[in-house]
Amino acid sequence: CGIVGFIGANDAKEVLLTGLEKLEYRGYDSAGIALLKDEDVNVTKVKGRIASLREKVDEHVTATMGIGHTRWATHGEPSEDNAHPHQSASGRFTLVHNGVIENYAEVRDQFLTDVTLQSETDTEIVVQLIEQFANETNDVLAGFRKALSVLKGSYALALIDNQNEDLIYVAKNKSPLLVGLGDGFNLVASDAMATLKETDRYVEIEDKEIVLVERDRVEIQKLDGTVVERAAYTAEIDA
Ligand code: GLU
Repeated sequence: CGIVGFIGANDAKEVLLTGLEKLEYRGYDSAGIALLKDEDVNVTKVKGRIASLREKVDEHVTATMGIGHTRWATHGEPSEDNAHPHQSASGRFTLVHNGVIENYAEVRDQFLTDVTLQSETDTEIVVQLIEQFANETNDVLAGFRKALSVLKGSYALALIDNQNEDLIYVAKNKSPLLVGLGDGFNLVASDAMATLKETDRYVEIEDKEIVLVERDRVEIQKLDGTVVERAAYTAEIDA
């Protein structure tokens, strides 16, 4: 399983699909991508192979940013509905997640009794919670932070807000995730393999950090909002 995110000027679709193909070796049962353009999110999901995902994605969609996922199901059977990305009730937020949210049932019963869920996954709870808290605080980053403070378990998360094409929200705890740096673009991935075609420069992310990934800027924060400075490194990996 794995996640990948891209924000740049190139065709996000191709970078994401290629990235997912490179993550295939990790094993998965379903896959999906979300591409954002002009406040419109185009989500494509399949049970099965990335090749089927590639065939199913609308060839006319172009986008400069998006997120992708290969799923190894832990909560909810492998199916198209349970495949990621998952979306919030209004459709504003779209999320991919690797890991397991241990307290998803408690969170659902405490905060989300008014929400009609569209899947059986622990992941959907996360994106619904983010929307709820973003509405409450009137601030997406504050809502994202508040959601993370409530969740227990492991996660590598990439979130997009259809009202902001210039930012991917990322967070990590006990699941692998790194940022890849490019010239005019940036990437996130659970595995450097997914990004080797694009870059060999990386920044590590530690557990319980949030990363704000823009086209020409990456900011790492602790959960309390403190900014973390961390140098990039160049990796020598044979593809
Ligand atoms: N727990 C999530 C699910 O079952 C994510 C699984 C994964 O890491 O692929 O959908």
